[in-house]
Amino acid sequence: MKIVDVKTYSVSYPVKQPFSNAMRTTRERAFGIVEITTDNGITGWGEGASLPAKRAIDTQVIGKDPFHYELIWEGLHKQGTDTAGISAIDIALWDIMGKALKQPIYQLLGGAFRDRATAYATGLFRRDVPDHTAALVAEARSYADAGFKAMKMKVGFGPDYDIKNVAAVRRAIGDDILFAVDANCGYDRGSAIAVGQRMAASNLLWFEEPIAADDIEGYVEIRRALKMRISGAEQLRGRWAFRRMIQEGALDIIQPDVCVCGGITEYRKIFAMASANHVRVIPHMFGTAIRLAATMQLLAVLPDSPRALEPFPTLLEYDMSENALRTELAKEPIRHKDGVVAVPQGPGLGIEINREVLQRYAL
Ligand SMILES: [Mg+2]
Repeated sequence: MKIVDVKTYSVSYPVKQPFSNAMRTTRERAFGIVEITTDNGITGWGEGASLPAKRAIDTQVIGKDPFHYELIWEGLHKQGTDTAGISAIDIALWDIMGKALKQPIYQLLGGAFRDRATAYATGLFRRDVPDHTAALVAEARSYADAGFKAMKMKVGFGPDYDIKNVAAVRRAIGDDILFAVDANCGYDRGSAIAVGQRMAASNLLWFEEPIAADDIEGYVEIRRALKMRISGAEQLRGRWAFRRMIQEGALDIIQPDVCVCGGITEYRKIFAMASANHVRVIPHMFGTAIRLAATMQLLAVLPDSPRALEPFPTLLEYDMSENALRTELAKEPIRHKDGVVAVPQGPGLGIEINREVLQRYAL
């Protein structure tokens, strides 16, 4: 089997109601998508935070056997393609391999530890509303009413906003729901520790990206200072970026994104490093239906850590924000039921792409 064609699509969904994390206001959701076709007519789909250059595709992908995914990965990397662009190609190769063998990707990765994942609702952004607290409380209650047993709120907007609103949401959802916060790198070390100490009263599942993504020494300092799990690394690219973050004990939980870190091939290497160092992996997911499907295949194959009778849940990040490229791009969208998502059982990624939706949002 040989790769005969690679199409790239830059897609963008205009958000009707903009929302903010600590760093930016989101008005559009932009992603890179690749479609790879083989000489026996199989089509594979991939997504990346960026797209590879045409020259890299022509020299490193066209004409290659999709089962040579390691050779293609190294070829693209050696030529200077960033890991987000490699991710898009790599995920499409795994989709092709699964379709060629008529198996979901998790079978090619060694078999599934689970056929469903507990989802946590990612939402609770800051919006342009008169009363932030009332809006956050109402949104959090709506997730609990929908059956979610876990959710995550955006912080990093300053001590007053964070401490007041985290406490209000915790009161509204009660003590039984897992509740994490995410500062998206919005604090410096001192502020993160000061705010974290006061938010700790709200019994948080984790404090995500309190500071700059690459500040390894800062994460070590914060982790020592705070009595809560510290998570991060959604922006890190390639095994080399994860190496010191893991080995220095900077994080309790790493959150690699399959469309940023280098795809499924690189994910396995990062997972192996994390496992050897007793660091937990909970994937980051904030993209189209393709990223959601690829993340579900990975969630199927991540063993519990530690392998306890009542293990810490291997959670799916379930993005509740507005994005038609997540909710409409797959003909049969991946949905939660009572806060639980089943692993797609079709070949490859387990989804079929709606080309009409792809064209509607292609630039
Ligand atoms: Mg995050």
